Amino acid sequence: MLTNKGAQPHNHLHVKKGDTVIVLSGKDKGQKGEIVKAIPKKMKVIVEGINKVKRHTKPSQKYPQGGIITRESPIGVSKVMLVCPACKKPTRIAKKLVNGKYVRACKKCGEVIDESK
Ligand SMILES: [Zn+2]
Repeated sequence: MLTNKGAQPHNHLHVKKGDTVIVLSGKDKGQKGEIVKAIPKKMKVIVEGINKVKRHTKPSQKYPQGGIITRESPIGVSKVMLVCPACKKPTRIAKKLVNGKYVRACKKCGEVIDESK
């Protein structure tokens, strides 16, 4: 297998907004959620319901009482794995050439996960 080190664009993530992923490690291990935000520069993603942290807030217009709010905090992309929308299994990404363009495909069932835009 070719390693192709350095060939990938630096800010490329294997997952993106809207993908369902499963958490591989940490306190949310085994949980699934949808990516609500990808942060390619930091190689991190924010996943709905995952890695929630409590934050103390001062009273503000939005939270007149102040107090504790919970919100998702970014986690490293290496800690998540894409869940294939077709076979529902956590999978690695295969690249498939379709109509002259590379698209992401499931390594397990071969289903194309998205069309490149
Ligand atoms: Zn699949």
